[in-house]
Amino acid sequence: MENTFQHCDFCSKPITTGQRYGTLVYNVETYEQNAQNPKGVISVHDSEQVHIMCLQCGERYNRENVEKEMNALVNQGFKKVEAEETPLKNSAYYNSMDLEPDHVLYYLSSRQREPQNEYERKLLKQIIEIEKSGNIVEIPSN
Ligand SMILES: [Zn+2]
Repeated sequence: MENTFQHCDFCSKPITTGQRYGTLVYNVETYEQNAQNPKGVISVHDSEQVHIMCLQCGERYNRENVEKEMNALVNQGFKKVEAEETPLKNSAYYNSMDLEPDHVLYYLSSRQREPQNEYERKLLKQIIEIEKSGNIVEIPSN
């Protein structure tokens, strides 16, 4: 008997009992070497299923594609901030007190925002210090 126990995350096709399917899983692991395991042993502490998918959809997810998508996600984090700034190029916006903290940090480091209070003046000083030491503030600025 075929029972649907899940649906594919991408095409919503039912995944039934006995059918092969793919999962994309995020594991938190440690690697250790000890007397019992001189070659090393990996312990999985936490395992979270990111996606379940039928094999047709799963085929897209070879190691290379997953890596590409992960990198794109990481890059998007701040690309989003940049995209939002484009239509609003005025100092009232950059100096607004209603901005999200990460936007404040971003505009401070890109020098589009004047520090609005003591905290932001300190923040900008820290940004300048970091830049002077040859490091990059952890926000990409093009
Ligand atoms: Zn599918």
